[in-house]
Amino acid sequence: MSSISETGVVAAVDKELFIGGKWVSASSGKTFPVLDPSTGEALCEVADASPADGVSALDAAVAAQADWANVAPRERGEILRRAYELLIKRADELALLMTLEMGKPLAESKGEITYAAEFFRWFAEEAVRIDGGFAVAPNGAGRFLVTKQPVGPCLLITPWNFPMAMGTRKIGPAVAAGCTMIIKPAAQTPLSMLALAAILAEAGLPEGVLNVLTTSDSGGVMEPLIRDGRARKLSFTGSTGVGRKLLEQCADKVLRTSMELGGNAPFLVFEDADLDAAIDGAMTAKMRNIGEACTAANRFYVQRGIVEEFSRRLTERMEALPMGRGTEEGVVVGPLIDKAAVEKVSGLVSDATGRGARVLTGGSTVDGPGNFYQATVLTDVPKDARLASEEIFGPVAPITPFDSEDEAIAAANDTEFGLVSYVYTSDLKRALRVSERLEAGMIGLNQGLVSNPAAPFGGIKQSGLGREGGTVGIDEFLETKYIAVAL
Ligand code: NAP
Repeated sequence: MSSISETGVVAAVDKELFIGGKWVSASSGKTFPVLDPSTGEALCEVADASPADGVSALDAAVAAQADWANVAPRERGEILRRAYELLIKRADELALLMTLEMGKPLAESKGEITYAAEFFRWFAEEAVRIDGGFAVAPNGAGRFLVTKQPVGPCLLITPWNFPMAMGTRKIGPAVAAGCTMIIKPAAQTPLSMLALAAILAEAGLPEGVLNVLTTSDSGGVMEPLIRDGRARKLSFTGSTGVGRKLLEQCADKVLRTSMELGGNAPFLVFEDADLDAAIDGAMTAKMRNIGEACTAANRFYVQRGIVEEFSRRLTERMEALPMGRGTEEGVVVGPLIDKAAVEKVSGLVSDATGRGARVLTGGSTVDGPGNFYQATVLTDVPKDARLASEEIFGPVAPITPFDSEDEAIAAANDTEFGLVSYVYTSDLKRALRVSERLEAGMIGLNQGLVSNPAAPFGGIKQSGLGREGGTVGIDEFLETKYIAVAL
């Protein structure tokens, strides 16, 4: 690590648009700043794409599609495998870059690089397992051939909270399936994606297969591309509000969509749970990524007999977390992404305390530069508090007691979201019963982390459509073609 400097990792990134395999300036010549959320200072400027640059990127993706679809699956997989190895080799530099633009502690950034790289390793292996089918028609007179083909050029949009992994989770299966693509990272964290594009080029990805647009005008650049009709799919990760808007735009040309949207995860702890494990799981589910994760535990429901002990122990653990710049040794609570995020979290806490919730620890913003908010535990949080229904996206753990299993499940399901739910219990029958009744695409059963490239990640209700990762992840980028054969 000693040879890596902050200015060095930022300077090493190409800060232009990546179109047709070339680094190019925005046609307007404009740039926008990337800020360090721990200081509020600009790290650098990156190219600010206009709608015209968007069309150039789409032209490049469309032009590359036919040849790319004909590249052997093994070769596509080997490009991903080489990119996986480069990511692992450069994990320290990439982690520092990510911490600088996003704020999360270095150890977490390093964890994300590994997680991100694993999507490439996984989809390198999936590229050669795209299957098909052969069947005899029921009347015996014909045969059915079923084959899978790439969807075509794709539009990929990613959020700032996992700047690298949300990209590889889409690029990996798209490359494996034989699709070309345009990816647009969030304006707050473009550097990780630009570094990733350079790695994929180095790994041998042909020109035009991946195009990267950085822009301060995401709606203005992406809407014309969605409505153009030549891209055949939109894969989006971000908030439910923006996801809804994009679904409407996609309806115009009936684009295929994958939507990884917001969450409001309940975390249920029953009296029969292993409390040590539940506290550890709660810390992971709440504090991973400073609470800025779609999978973050948003509401803790704890059975009345243990609620006091659980609250006390969680408070002790939260109080002990070192806060600071993510580059500092031992820091766990980094800054939130921007001032608006701090105001949102602060507003949700004030609303809850105004309705009777009690602060056990934290509950305040932090003076000085940077977007810091204290690790916070609230108890006696009433049902009508806004943070019971809104995604907090910050280091705040609201606790509400419950008496019966039915009451806990009803409270957990009382949300428009359905991404993930966490359940802690030692009773196998209860574990399965509750897991089946919870309305979520994923369940953390006695564990506070569900993300795994080899598993199908995704939500139900207004948390999304489709799955990323696992054996189904590649299907999102494949069309099924059935060939009716007359004999
Ligand atoms: P966001 O505001 O919805 O933005 C997500 C992405 O969409 C960014 O790249 C953003 O670009 C872009 N965008 C915003 N408005 C757009 C528009 N009109 N047209 C096209 N693109 C547009 O979400 P965020 O604040 O970055 O991320 C946090 C949200 O993502 C949370 O709700 C979280 O739960 C969700 N999330 C979900 C998952 C999952 O797997 N389900 C994973 C991670 C995060 P700009 O910011 O540059 O405008």
